Amino acid sequence: MIGLADCNNFFVSCERSINPDLENKAVVVLSNNDGCVVARSNEAKALGIRMGQPAFEIRELIEKQKVIALSGNHLLYRDISLRVHDIFRRYVPEAIDYSVDESFLDVSGIPVSSLEAIGKAIYSTCLQEMHIPVTIGFSHSKTLAKIATEFCKKNTIPVGILDADKDIEDIINSLPINDLWGIGRRTVKKLFLWGVRTIGDFARLDKNFVRKNLGINGERTWLEIHKTPCIELNHVNRTLQDSISETRTFPEDITDYDYIRARIVIYATDCARKLRMMRGKCKSIGVFLRTNPFHAQPKLIKPEGIIELRHPTSDTSEIVSAALIVLDEIFISRMPFKRAGVWLSEISADIPEVGSLFDNSKNLEEINRKKSLMRVLDNINSVIGNKKLGLASQIVKITRGHNDGYSSSFQAPQR
Ligand SMILES: [Mg+2]
Repeated sequence: MIGLADCNNFFVSCERSINPDLENKAVVVLSNNDGCVVARSNEAKALGIRMGQPAFEIRELIEKQKVIALSGNHLLYRDISLRVHDIFRRYVPEAIDYSVDESFLDVSGIPVSSLEAIGKAIYSTCLQEMHIPVTIGFSHSKTLAKIATEFCKKNTIPVGILDADKDIEDIINSLPINDLWGIGRRTVKKLFLWGVRTIGDFARLDKNFVRKNLGINGERTWLEIHKTPCIELNHVNRTLQDSISETRTFPEDITDYDYIRARIVIYATDCARKLRMMRGKCKSIGVFLRTNPFHAQPKLIKPEGIIELRHPTSDTSEIVSAALIVLDEIFISRMPFKRAGVWLSEISADIPEVGSLFDNSKNLEEINRKKSLMRVLDNINSVIGNKKLGLASQIVKITRGHNDGYSSSFQAPQR
């Protein structure tokens, strides 16, 4: 059997976890530029608000205070996501993170009779520790686990086990074909033409017909519904990017070393935070500067440099120090720069340090102490809002009074 743990209305649940006043109210979270709805509470769903609905269409509901609309706080969501995924891992041998709010649970070897208890333990721990409601479904394949979870959510059951053939048949006959995982909108249209309305209808199609008309992916889904697991997720490799970068154009040409130095600190800090979010560590840190291509100069000047560390790190202060060493190497005085950036590469998974025979324990203690410090930094930032807490070396920029998208988080210079 395989399980799927899926957080309910995840972004809204995250907002409620830090603001209990939102409980039992219609709440929606809007996309980055407040353009459209990306998450809805059950109360908002009951008002008929659709996923992806443009915000202006529900403006009246918002103005009449029937709906609370929030701008997304994705740092918070990411942080809660990591912790919820950690909770899943406490209860099963392996959990494969599928998305920000979903994990497949590998429960192979665990008797079916124990699954309900495992599911309930995950459910109540997520609720108690993180205030996040989760739905968990178990079945014979990932697709059937998805179906089990979907069914439970519709019926507000926290844990469901879809095992017996009769139960599978009943449930797939009750769910519309649009709810089938891995079947896109275009395929749904095709299936509609063939008279397929429910997942059960799809399962009753001939396998060869499915293969011929929907290809290998359609066939895989068909097999999964017939209890033959064949969809693999290599998610671990997908989460770790090859490199992370932060680059910005300055509001004007800048020759001032202090200003550029403060920018580099900010970009390096942001890169380090992203690195920790994907649980990686990096070995190389690069910095570049670039002059303005539109201003009269003999040619575009783009000094850059890379520093390679002896040991990979995800520590902000180490990454910032390394970036500043590179900056000092490449900075050209009196040269007007218009753009700068930091990038991290040679990224690998950050596996917890356990210490070897040759490590001295003081060193290990120091590494773990720094890691705790970074965790505290990330946690505070995710609760109080975007990047408010940082390194003191960022502060130089406040005295310059420039605004290129970062200064807004530092409104009080005295701070
Ligand atoms: Mg979800």
